Amino acid sequence: QAKAAGRRTFMRYDDNMDVAVRQRATLSSALRKVLDRGELRLVFQPRLSLATSRVTGVEALLRWSSPEHGDIPPNDFIPLAEESGLILEIGEWVLREACLVLGRWRQHGLDALTVSVNVSVLQLLRGDFPDVVRRVLADTGIPPGLLELELTESVLMANAEQTAAKLHAFRQLGVALAIDDFGTGYSSLAYLKRLPITTIKIDKAFVDGLPNDTEDAAITSTVIAMGHSLGLNVVAEGVETEAQMRFLAGRGCDEIQGFWVAQPLDALQCLAFIRNWRPDTPARPAPVRVAT
Ligand code: C2E
Ligand code: MG
Ligand code: MG
Ligand code: MG
Repeated sequence: QAKAAGRRTFMRYDDNMDVAVRQRATLSSALRKVLDRGELRLVFQPRLSLATSRVTGVEALLRWSSPEHGDIPPNDFIPLAEESGLILEIGEWVLREACLVLGRWRQHGLDALTVSVNVSVLQLLRGDFPDVVRRVLADTGIPPGLLELELTESVLMANAEQTAAKLHAFRQLGVALAIDDFGTGYSSLAYLKRLPITTIKIDKAFVDGLPNDTEDAAITSTVIAMGHSLGLNVVAEGVETEAQMRFLAGRGCDEIQGFWVAQPLDALQCLAFIRNWRPDTPARPAPVRVAT
């Protein structure tokens, strides 16, 4: 169908540069209208505590379904939204929508659940971003401690001075701060010392090889231990198997996120998932936390 074809040919720089450039331009202009046309939505992926086997929070992930171009993954359209500056508007929509959804869930008694929102560098560099966050929290009635902002290493390295000031402002608000995709950027351990981060999310690339790949095992074990000695909450991303979960539980990793727990779900499905989740759900035996 047209949908699949649009998706397949998008951004194939390798075989035809002109087509790729033209499609980028078309997609950028389509992106300009997405907010007005309601083509964006959020899905939510649960995060599980390995100590308690409970769902502690969710990550909000953006989805774009375009009538002309089909479903476009965020890794494809977020760079375009960043280039055009649209990410500012889109990012604010994501933040507000994520807090509105959490607010609805809280009325169902999920009052300790957290929501994590991905933040791009343009949003962070914007002068008034802490005010934007403060306003959204006030408007939606979400306690600041239940919001976590996920930042990538590249975000943290860009304009280090300004970034540090912003992050301190967020911590003063009580908002949690995670480093996303940890280990994949231009890692400098210096920022772990300098910046008021609360959480490290170990990238899926390192989780993939667990438990047998000796390098991945060494890296994840070391990051967990280092994170803990710095007083940070350590989350593993992209956990797809029970064997990966058991390895991480054995190393004392605090939380996991990934298809083994659940795929990203729409708001209603995710609410049902969390409400039906039992720590002793037979299909997924309660993870054991081995003392290390
Ligand atoms: P991320 O923040 O690291 O999100 C994790 C990605 O891994 C998500 O892809 C999620 O669907 C996927 N994932 C989770 N568990 C598994 C698993 O077990 N196996 C596999 N194969 N994949 C898993 P998604 O939703 O396509 O998002 C990709 C990236 O796009 C995100 O990576 C994030 O960097 C960016 N993104 C998504 N939503 C937003 C947003 O609202 N704002 C910004 N600035 N970036 C966003
Ligand atoms: Mg993330
Ligand atoms: Mg990530
Ligand atoms: Mg990623």
